[in-house]
Amino acid sequence: MGKKKKGGDRKGKKRPKKTKPSAKYKKYVVEENKIVKKGKPCPKCGSGVFLAEHKERLSCGRCSYMESKKSETAKKEAE
Ligand SMILES: [Zn+2]
Repeated sequence: MGKKKKGGDRKGKKRPKKTKPSAKYKKYVVEENKIVKKGKPCPKCGSGVFLAEHKERLSCGRCSYMESKKSETAKKEAE
Protein backbone atom coordinates (compact mmCIF):
# COMPACT_ATOMS: atom_id res chain seq x y z
CA MET A 1 0.00 0.00 0.00
CA GLY A 2 1.13 3.48 -0.77
CA LYS A 3 4.12 2.29 -2.67
CA LYS A 4 5.63 4.74 -5.04
CA LYS A 5 6.31 3.80 -8.58
CA LYS A 6 9.87 2.76 -8.65
CA GLY A 7 12.49 2.41 -11.31
CA GLY A 8 10.69 2.17 -14.55
CA ASP A 9 12.91 4.43 -16.53
CA ARG A 10 16.09 2.60 -15.85
CA LYS A 11 15.96 0.71 -19.09
CA GLY A 12 15.08 3.84 -20.95
CA LYS A 13 12.01 4.47 -22.94
CA LYS A 14 11.87 3.09 -26.36
CA ARG A 15 12.13 6.02 -28.61
CA PRO A 16 10.50 5.75 -31.95
CA LYS A 17 13.28 5.59 -34.47
CA LYS A 18 13.21 7.99 -37.28
CA THR A 19 13.13 5.72 -40.22
CA LYS A 20 14.97 7.00 -43.18
CA PRO A 21 13.29 6.54 -46.50
CA SER A 22 14.97 3.88 -48.52
CA ALA A 23 17.70 5.27 -50.69
CA LYS A 24 16.14 4.00 -53.83
CA TYR A 25 13.21 6.32 -53.47
CA LYS A 26 15.52 9.21 -54.04
CA LYS A 27 16.10 7.86 -57.48
CA TYR A 28 12.52 8.41 -58.36
CA VAL A 29 11.38 11.83 -59.27
CA VAL A 30 7.76 12.55 -59.84
CA GLU A 31 7.26 14.96 -62.66
CA GLU A 32 3.83 15.97 -63.77
CA ASN A 33 2.11 12.79 -62.74
CA LYS A 34 4.74 10.52 -64.13
CA ILE A 35 7.59 8.82 -62.41
CA VAL A 36 10.99 9.41 -63.87
CA LYS A 37 13.62 6.91 -62.96
CA LYS A 38 16.96 8.35 -62.21
CA GLY A 39 20.10 6.38 -62.17
CA LYS A 40 20.99 3.18 -63.85
CA PRO A 41 19.45 -0.08 -62.69
CA CYS A 42 21.69 -2.98 -61.86
CA PRO A 43 21.77 -5.54 -64.67
CA LYS A 44 22.15 -8.31 -62.13
CA CYS A 45 19.59 -7.31 -59.54
CA GLY A 46 17.04 -5.89 -61.89
CA SER A 47 15.35 -2.57 -62.31
CA GLY A 48 14.51 -2.24 -58.60
CA VAL A 49 18.12 -1.80 -57.67
CA PHE A 50 20.05 1.18 -58.80
CA LEU A 51 23.75 1.52 -59.18
CA ALA A 52 25.43 3.97 -56.89
CA GLU A 53 27.14 6.67 -58.82
CA HIS A 54 30.77 7.36 -58.18
CA LYS A 55 33.21 9.63 -59.88
CA GLU A 56 34.45 7.19 -62.46
CA ARG A 57 32.24 4.22 -61.96
CA LEU A 58 28.88 2.87 -61.01
CA SER A 59 28.46 0.20 -58.41
CA CYS A 60 25.67 -1.90 -57.00
CA GLY A 61 25.41 -1.96 -53.24
CA ARG A 62 23.56 -5.22 -53.31
CA CYS A 63 25.61 -7.54 -55.49
CA SER A 64 28.70 -5.34 -55.67
CA TYR A 65 28.49 -5.23 -59.40
CA MET A 66 30.71 -2.54 -60.80
CA GLU A 67 30.68 -0.71 -64.03
CA SER A 68 33.18 1.78 -65.28
CA LYS A 69 31.83 4.96 -66.74
CA LYS A 70 34.93 5.42 -68.82
CA SER A 71 34.66 2.10 -70.61
CA GLU A 72 31.07 2.83 -71.43
CA THR A 73 31.84 6.10 -73.14
CA ALA A 74 34.84 4.55 -74.85
CA LYS A 75 32.58 1.85 -76.18
CA LYS A 76 30.18 4.33 -77.66
CA GLU A 77 32.96 6.19 -79.35
CA ALA A 78 34.33 3.01 -80.81
CA GLU A 79 31.05 1.98 -82.34
ZN1 LIG B 1 23.23 -5.60 -58.19
